[in-house]
Amino acid sequence: MAKHQFQTEIGQLLKLMTHSLYSNKEIFIRELVSNSSDAIDKFNYLSLTDEAFKEEEWSGKVFIKLDTEDNSLTIGDNGIGMNEQDLMDHLGTIAKSGTKAFMENLTGDAAKDSNLIGQFGVGFYSVFMVADQVDVVSKKAGEEQAYKFSTDGTGEYEVTPVTKESHGTVIYIKLKEDEKEFLEKDRIQTVVKKYSNHIAYPIMLTYTEEVTEGEGDEKTTKMETKTEQINAATALWTLPKSELKKEDYVEFYQTIAHDSEEPLTYLHNKVEGASEFTTLFYIPKKAPMDMYRPDYTPGVKLYVKRVFITDDDKELLPSYLRFVKGIIDSEDLPLNVSRELLQENKILANIKQTSTKKILQAIKKLKDEDAATFISQYNRMMKEGVYTDHVNKELLLDIVKYKSSTQEGLVTFSDYVSRADSEKKEIYYIVGEDEKVLRNSPLLEAYNKANIEVLIMDDNEVDSIVTPMIGTYKEWALKDITSIDAPDSKTEEEKEEVAKEFKALTDKIKEVLGGEVKDVKTSTRLTSSPSCVLKDPNDPMAGMAQIFAQMGEEMPEAPLILEINPEHEMVKKLDALEDDALFNDVAWILLDSARLAEGIDVKDKGAFATRIANLTTKAL
Ligand code: ADP
Ligand code: MG
Repeated sequence: MAKHQFQTEIGQLLKLMTHSLYSNKEIFIRELVSNSSDAIDKFNYLSLTDEAFKEEEWSGKVFIKLDTEDNSLTIGDNGIGMNEQDLMDHLGTIAKSGTKAFMENLTGDAAKDSNLIGQFGVGFYSVFMVADQVDVVSKKAGEEQAYKFSTDGTGEYEVTPVTKESHGTVIYIKLKEDEKEFLEKDRIQTVVKKYSNHIAYPIMLTYTEEVTEGEGDEKTTKMETKTEQINAATALWTLPKSELKKEDYVEFYQTIAHDSEEPLTYLHNKVEGASEFTTLFYIPKKAPMDMYRPDYTPGVKLYVKRVFITDDDKELLPSYLRFVKGIIDSEDLPLNVSRELLQENKILANIKQTSTKKILQAIKKLKDEDAATFISQYNRMMKEGVYTDHVNKELLLDIVKYKSSTQEGLVTFSDYVSRADSEKKEIYYIVGEDEKVLRNSPLLEAYNKANIEVLIMDDNEVDSIVTPMIGTYKEWALKDITSIDAPDSKTEEEKEEVAKEFKALTDKIKEVLGGEVKDVKTSTRLTSSPSCVLKDPNDPMAGMAQIFAQMGEEMPEAPLILEINPEHEMVKKLDALEDDALFNDVAWILLDSARLAEGIDVKDKGAFATRIANLTTKAL
């Protein structure tokens, strides 16, 4: 007899299950049935592809047995089963990062937290919300010896050899004293209908019932054991759309996504012709917790003629659609398709392309609140798509949204274009980390004055890389306002005149600032600020942000162009100033305060402070 200690994290998880997650306990049935269904899927595949199992007469089933006398419930299956090592690896230790991620995402709100259980691959442990004692008896297909894994859910478990006739798993659950409701036939039936109606295999419920026989004095009652199928047991996606109601789709979503909310939207398509396949996709209302983790679990399962093939292929959809849950069922792939070669498979590539288009079209059709929910969860994913999926760029550009200098909320490129100058066909934007800094940027002044809309892109990490490579939306050119001339009504001659008038001043400032600036110019883009800084559009580094990001490096800073506002008092007075020391201080402050206004750090903070102190003293 081998006693083992649960891994520390599992110990914590068990404590949590037994003591904190008291709401929505019924989901333990969904989780165990879901595991059984997975195990049957796996054996089903073997029975069709592996010579060793082809002879066996078999049809996959899930069993649930209620025993009121023993106060126990048993859930079993004739699936692939587990051997000694599997039991220890899958139930006793954490093979995946799921447990840790689950613990990290807990909110302390029992209702919310129990919704997370299935999503992190910790479904099995939910049984401890209701159990005092759990025995898992399992025999792996193709092996001789069966094993029993038993635990009372406090720190230790035991694995012992036992006998079991055929492959599969039986989980015996001794219920806690106050969980007797799970012995009621109707209760179980309701829960199964709610969460597991459309798993592809029959769920057989065995229960005992009092039956009365005879009449009058002859009347006797006895207990009778009955078994009946309590789910529809049809793979939902194989049914015609016309036979399915929204509730059916929602129920199936909740089963496969382990979510208790409704999906944001779903799409069910049967494609016929050269290639035949069925797809059923869902978009969750809330982004999956592991969406930004490199080891995220893919949400789409691949079937071939209703036989489960894999749920672990990240290439079934483009990676920017990794939040999509659902099913792809192909009629054309061979059953024994090599999982390693799935990527190179032409049939699958075609399914992927068609599916991607359909999903993006469904997203584009979302309206009002749904559209807003989508963007709040997945805007970044769509931007990732813009960057990586050139085939669907147009569609994606109609989905992504940005803040705007003239509108409340978020706008699409198409919204922007409908309001903008259709002669010029230019879309203006500014990118940075801080919305407030961007909105107050001196570079915006000229646009605000001319009532020209500018997109405020404050998701710097993503926007600074993605936006420059968009190039155009329809025939409209995207323009970064930090590297183009401002809109204004001055003619070239007028501008030159001003430049000439202030040439002595700009030259002198440039001399003071040395290599810190690339150039100093008079500006036509400013109204209230004395100065601003811009990137040099001709700098070869300008287009290299993406290359640096790919290398995971920070982009070296290119020297900026300083523009001064010739109409500003400060600049006019500086032009007339004779005191050289004071001139130096003011020149530096023109540069440093312009840097700050764009959210760029001042290099020599000490010197900056000293200059401010000097000037303030003088002013006082
Ligand atoms: P997940 O199902 O997300 O992997 P669970 O905690 O529900 O996480 O299950 C952990 C693992 O235990 C499963 O991945 C599977 O390998 C194994 N397992 C659980 N139940 C069964 C079963 N009925 N038959 C075979 N294996 C099972
Ligand atoms: Mg599970």
